[in-house]
Amino acid sequence: MEIKKKDIRALSKDQLRDFFQKEGDKAFRGNQVYEWLWSKGAHTFEDMTNLSKETRQMLEDHFVINHIKVDVMQRSSDGTVKNAVRLHDNLVVESVLIPTKTRTTACVSSQVGCSLDCKFCATARLKRMRNLNPDEIYDQVVAIDRESRLYFDRPLSNIVFMGMGEPLMNYNNVLKAIDKITSPEGLGMSPKRIVVSTSGVPKMIKKMADDDVKFKLAVSLHSAIDEVRTSIMPFNATFPLADLREALVYWYEKTKNRITYEYVVWEGINDKRKDVDALVQFCKFAPSKVNIIEYNPIDDGQFQQAKSQAIDMYQSVLEENNITVTIRRSRGKDIDAACGQLANKD
Ligand code: SAH
Repeated sequence: MEIKKKDIRALSKDQLRDFFQKEGDKAFRGNQVYEWLWSKGAHTFEDMTNLSKETRQMLEDHFVINHIKVDVMQRSSDGTVKNAVRLHDNLVVESVLIPTKTRTTACVSSQVGCSLDCKFCATARLKRMRNLNPDEIYDQVVAIDRESRLYFDRPLSNIVFMGMGEPLMNYNNVLKAIDKITSPEGLGMSPKRIVVSTSGVPKMIKKMADDDVKFKLAVSLHSAIDEVRTSIMPFNATFPLADLREALVYWYEKTKNRITYEYVVWEGINDKRKDVDALVQFCKFAPSKVNIIEYNPIDDGQFQQAKSQAIDMYQSVLEENNITVTIRRSRGKDIDAACGQLANKD
């Protein structure tokens, strides 16, 4: 009977140390292997040249290293790069590199598909296949860091969890990946340069606050009126705005970190004065800012970007109320790499 080998990168450093001790070797060997796996990015046990041949064979007998593989890389005319990433079980997720003059941002996926059902998002149509492991999330970041150095001559500067999936529904693995990304043994990035974006799972937002996480929080709000929000993000019926609001107040009180609300304005859906007024009220519950994002059409035109007058109204009313607002243009639309367009299309 063939023994199913374990993904070695699912083990913590302590677990690796224990493994070596149980095998009658020095615990320190675990540190060496850990370093090979994470800071040196070894793809095979053969690469681990400071281990004896026997040790490498022993690892080979017990474990596999499940590296992702960038199958297809597409470059947009605006410099955006989209990676189609193949996982060890042949499923595919996408990640995006977004360059600006001074930064390179990686937009990474946390799940294969998504279990939420936002009506305006292409990923929602894929359904959730499975959660990504910490190393599959980490590898997406490493791949983009490499591309950033290659094409833009600088390392990756920021990470947003705004690719496929709902990060708070794969919270433990996202947290483990961020631990690796921020640890000196991994990429040594500052958590302040990482944004986790959620549709708003109140219980998990509170848990994050209790865990005293240091990264930033963005919430895809899109409407501060329950009825409207439920019509475009049906899970809002389960997690209504009152619960979300309570969790966000809790988050701010514990972390003192301002929240970013992501917001798309659609014609005939949330482009009226009452929608802006509700948003202003919502923003007053906890210190926050609003990021108005452009709509990236995904289908037959059920949703349409609001007229510029509506966006201007949002901007002026928010500013009158001393709420910071930024209007963000989409990148990478020509290669289906913009927000909400990730759907494993060729
Ligand atoms: N599930 C997480 C992260 C993935 S979505 C979340 O909901 O935040 C990343 C962002 O893209 C979210 O703000 C989402 O609302 C937005 N988005 C989804 N579809 C979009 C579309 N077609 N056009 C513009 N933004 C979209």
